[in-house]
Amino acid sequence: MTNTDKDTTVVIVGAGVAGLAVGNFLLRSGISCVVLERHTREHVEERQRAGGLDPDAVLRLHEWGLAEVVDGHGHGDPDAPLPLLIDGEQRQLRMEDEPGSLKRMFLPQQVLIRNLTEVFLRDGGDLRFEAADVSLHDVDGPRPLVRYRDANGATRSISCDFIAGCDGFHGVSRTAVPADLLTSSTHEFGYAWLSVLAQAPADPLSVLAVHSRGFAARITRGPQASRIYLQCPLADTVDQWPDERIWSELETRFGAPVTDRGPIVTKQVVPLRGVVFSPMSHGRLYLLGDAAHLISPMSARGVCLALHDADVFARAVVRRVVECDSSLLDSYSATCLEYTWQQQASAVWMTETIHEAGDASYEGEFRRQIARRNLEAILEPVGSGHSSA
Ligand code: FAD
Repeated sequence: MTNTDKDTTVVIVGAGVAGLAVGNFLLRSGISCVVLERHTREHVEERQRAGGLDPDAVLRLHEWGLAEVVDGHGHGDPDAPLPLLIDGEQRQLRMEDEPGSLKRMFLPQQVLIRNLTEVFLRDGGDLRFEAADVSLHDVDGPRPLVRYRDANGATRSISCDFIAGCDGFHGVSRTAVPADLLTSSTHEFGYAWLSVLAQAPADPLSVLAVHSRGFAARITRGPQASRIYLQCPLADTVDQWPDERIWSELETRFGAPVTDRGPIVTKQVVPLRGVVFSPMSHGRLYLLGDAAHLISPMSARGVCLALHDADVFARAVVRRVVECDSSLLDSYSATCLEYTWQQQASAVWMTETIHEAGDASYEGEFRRQIARRNLEAILEPVGSGHSSA
């Protein structure tokens, strides 16, 4: 285990995808780290969020020797067609995987979190749950310090070489960057999703629908659960969406009966937006994942972005510790921002195309017609054998 004259080499704040990925990557490279997580292990391992991983995310985990956290944990057929309903007419999203390459996977985020946690602890990782009141000090000096209150209420501090701020969009790490040095760029799409978790399987595993009443989707979250998304006005509240209205609106937008119903366990109205904070580093603090950016959920790339940042950061720390070369850490922010903006560009295109192709009340008929034409670029051609319309 590589240790410096400080308590540990890296303190990682947050045990989400980004934090646990960095922890595992560093552990595999023999670099000491401590992960501080605000919540209990049970809470983190049960938190339902994303449902899929794309091939580059799977590849990253394989490259770091972590195939075991994904392989065999997905469900459903990765080659199954992905239907997209346009006013009830069924088309198929174009499949982009190369034959024989790694596939996209349906793998609920909490399963990935559970597996990353288990492997980290099994391999001797230091992961401290219920770390309250985390605060970051001297991030722009040579010896940063992280203070927190442990599960017994005792105040503790850890000095380190680097801090990885992996504590999500509402975390504390970003606040350690002086406000006058941090810029925030936001794009509001002007509509929201009613996001619903139902205890009922999705069959097929993913269905998207473009409809004049708005976008709708149902996507698997494991063999017994699915997430339903319904485009709605920003001002809507969950009280306006009793369970029966959700099922009947889903049927209307799908243009077909929805028979796989089950108890609805959570509902929330989520405004669609993209946010990027820049720079993604300050002194010896590095921001990763949702702590540095939010991407439209339409793209389903939040987990992928978090894994990208974790990969770049861990490689940079390894280079610094093993070769005394700081160049990758120096370019961390620029490298990750370039990738983030590329992902934001395709997320904005996808989000606007899918939504504008449906409900014309937001952007008008002209945009709806343009979006319908743009949509063809991501669909299998009619009559290709992939369309059942
Ligand atoms: P997080 O997962 O938010 O992890 C941050 C961690 O830090 C948490 O464990 C938190 O408890 C901890 N923390 C916070 N504050 C502190 C503190 N002060 N001290 C210590 N610890 C702290 N992405 C996709 O790719 N595909 C999808 O289909 C998808 N669907 C989503 C559905 C929902 C309902 C939501 C909310 C998100 C979805 N996302 C999806 C986005 C994806 O979940 C996030 O992009 C991803 O979780 C980011 O990982 P992260 O590690 O950066 O942050």
